[in-house]
Amino acid sequence: MSAGAPDKVIPIEATRPSIPVLPIPQSGSVRRVDGHWRDTLDRPLRDLRISVTDHCNFRCRYCMPKESFSKKHRFLAMTELLTFEEIFRISRLAVANGIEKLRLTGGEPLLRKGIEKLIADLRTLKTPDGRPIDIAMTTNASLLVRKAQALRDAGLDRITVSLDAIDEGIFQGFNDVGFPAAKVLEAIDFAVEMGFPVKVNTVVKRSVNEQEVLRICERFRGTGVIPRFIEYMDVGTANGWRMTDVVPSREILNMIAARWPVEPINAHYPGETATRWRYKDGAGEFGLISSVTRAFCRDCSRARLSMEGRLYLCLFATVGYDIRTMLRGGCTDQELEEAFGRIWTVRGDRYSELRSLGIAPTRDKIEMSYIGG
Ligand code: SF4
Repeated sequence: MSAGAPDKVIPIEATRPSIPVLPIPQSGSVRRVDGHWRDTLDRPLRDLRISVTDHCNFRCRYCMPKESFSKKHRFLAMTELLTFEEIFRISRLAVANGIEKLRLTGGEPLLRKGIEKLIADLRTLKTPDGRPIDIAMTTNASLLVRKAQALRDAGLDRITVSLDAIDEGIFQGFNDVGFPAAKVLEAIDFAVEMGFPVKVNTVVKRSVNEQEVLRICERFRGTGVIPRFIEYMDVGTANGWRMTDVVPSREILNMIAARWPVEPINAHYPGETATRWRYKDGAGEFGLISSVTRAFCRDCSRARLSMEGRLYLCLFATVGYDIRTMLRGGCTDQELEEAFGRIWTVRGDRYSELRSLGIAPTRDKIEMSYIGG
């Protein structure tokens, strides 16, 4: 989800066993308004991001650098991963309690064998008032041509592709396994032909891929694909983030507007992370995600479920709640629902807001490849 080479690489092999985990709170009230659990800042839980694997076939410098994720790295055993049945059970209860959107992430979610089976099961879920839920996936697209038909048949609604550059030298330098940008573009075109709405997420890092912004806009103008430019964030500890690496959204907007006349458009829904812009000549739209310069924590309605069943309340979380132990300990649906509700009710996370106030905690954060982007 982001770009550029790290200045300092933390050996993940050394840190993985120490990812802290919290027990599920066994008592406490559950706050619910209008069918949604509400946290301490009155934010509803609407969106669950589910990481289905810790594997990825790329070794992006900012996310899973080769030095840290070498052959010696201990990936999780299959028995440690949540099964599809367990993911479905958590999702079913979450949807019954106000979650309207599920996003499958990883690692690279298409590496999880049989992912289409999980999607087909999730497709059967409906909100309490009978509406279908929104099911999306974030992928590097390396396996998308092979999997697109099965994903479509299973009922996946939307696809987001991470693509930080079109230039082959830059892109292959990022993924560090020599995977061509041309193949990703081919997969995006294929997905569009199949009828998927596709967004492209590009994290912009100063002096690394700023020049790719206009090339990406140019490539997707008139195609229906929506590029979204994201400010480079301090996710995890492996990417050696510095504020000077951030290219503010305002600067990206100025760059695009100097080339094509643009105008703002309304958000699809309150709390949408991207601000939307369209080209005045009708060639489509793009989004800007100001994750650093304009924190959107006040509207953050997302929780993250890791592949081994830990629930995280923020992308920058330092601890997660151990749902898997509860599931495998034979809990009832009601116990699981209450636990989920209690966890959300006490949530006060707002890391990006604190960062912009200069008071963000400095403890080690969990790596993006583990928590999902
Ligand atoms: S920093 Fe955390 S609370 Fe703020 S928007 Fe990001 S995920 Fe949500």
